[in-house]
Amino acid sequence: MLAIGLLPTLSESAIAGTTSAESLGSIVSVVAGRPVNVSCAPSEDAWLRELEQGQMDADAVAYYDGELDVIHFGPAICGGAQDLDRGVTPALVASLFVAAHEAAHAVGVDDEGGANCWGLYWAQDLARRFAGIQFFTPASRLVLEIARQIQHDAPPEYRSACPV
Ligand SMILES: [Zn+2]
Repeated sequence: MLAIGLLPTLSESAIAGTTSAESLGSIVSVVAGRPVNVSCAPSEDAWLRELEQGQMDADAVAYYDGELDVIHFGPAICGGAQDLDRGVTPALVASLFVAAHEAAHAVGVDDEGGANCWGLYWAQDLARRFAGIQFFTPASRLVLEIARQIQHDAPPEYRSACPV
């Protein structure tokens, strides 16, 4: 007979066994409405080399490769996606926001301001779906507050007025 009491519950083991890339893949696929492949850089050094080779800004946290249809995430965003079962953290919200931003690019939203609106709009919904943070709770309002702060702190070309 199996000692069921010693096994983790299904949900705990599902969370523990899910990598950041798997979580982010699920998140971007929901936002994009189709499967989108993602990758997580294995280290900060590897990420910086990747950005350099692609001639991208060294402060980029993620980018969408339209040729291969892959979203690449840096370590900060992948790390935030490990917070799915830890309540609301700035790193979690940044991951959700950036995942939605890149998913927007993957479905043809080219401008950065427009993509950031997707980050703003999707943050609470993604927190509900993937981190169990219910709408109309203080935790959900905190998600929106952090997402607005991310939007507020972004460079000007990322801050177009989002239609409500
Ligand atoms: Zn972008």
